[in-house]
Amino acid sequence: MPARAIGVDLGGTKLLAGAVDPSLGVHHRLQRTVTGLQQRALLDMAVAAVAALRESAGDEVDAVGFGLPALIDRRTGRVGVGVHTPLADIPFADVMAERLGLPVFVDNDGNNSALAEHRAGAARGATDAVVLTLGTGIGGGLILDGRIYRGSRGGAGELGHMEIDFDGPECRDNCPGRGCAELYASGPALVREATRLAGERPESGLARAVADGRELLGPLVTELAHDGDEAAVEAVQLIGSRLGVVITSLVNIFNPEIVVIGGGISTAGDLLLEPAREEYQRRALRSSSWAPVVAAQLGNDAGVLGAAALVMERPGI
Ligand SMILES: [Zn+2]
Repeated sequence: MPARAIGVDLGGTKLLAGAVDPSLGVHHRLQRTVTGLQQRALLDMAVAAVAALRESAGDEVDAVGFGLPALIDRRTGRVGVGVHTPLADIPFADVMAERLGLPVFVDNDGNNSALAEHRAGAARGATDAVVLTLGTGIGGGLILDGRIYRGSRGGAGELGHMEIDFDGPECRDNCPGRGCAELYASGPALVREATRLAGERPESGLARAVADGRELLGPLVTELAHDGDEAAVEAVQLIGSRLGVVITSLVNIFNPEIVVIGGGISTAGDLLLEPAREEYQRRALRSSSWAPVVAAQLGNDAGVLGAAALVMERPGI
């Protein structure tokens, strides 16, 4: 067990990092904006962030774990094409290990969040778990038989690209598919439904917010739903019901002990999760439908913790 690992969650807009102790406590959190940085500047910033953390942590760091918004090819260690990061095709762990003089491990951010919830959050102790992170898309990961399931080349766990409508709209970014789950049950889907309902219900809180010049983003819709605005509640519940359909397929395939829902929209809590539970209880096979659907516990720390937990998965480091 290492004395201390550094976890770095290198997202499309910001870098979050922290020193993580063997009990998975996060110390010396650090944040940097990375929007618009090209490859060299981004790597330089990551190196500087790790150096700053080593300085402030003040004791020995054994290794560094990274999470990237892209797939990592398990055969080559190279970063796959990711629209959210300019790191495509470099052997990221090797490059960073050389620059940092420390062992470096890397995985995609969805897997890291799932690993964190399994080691220190809502899925702790589960042998099999499905973790869904609802944000701009749907990320997440699979814990199967106590370990992250990465597939033959590292591409497994792309839960948001489960196709649920064979004639649906084209997917986004690098996905050539149609009708993928994340088109229906992510942050942008919530905004789309809330905008539609605001137009249909001029008396609603959603419509008043638009009339006041406020932009209907996920946090505002969630806030209005918590305040009891019926249109906002309906928008959140609609996304929850669709989420329940996605969960149905996942539990039928993987028969997990628990399903964990994280990401920005999950702050809606049971307003989102209750319709998801109802939908999935109605649809799932009886052999699978008992797994509880719960909110993630680690919030913004999940990426950093999961990156550090990557280090702790490696015996001998
Ligand atoms: Zn897709």
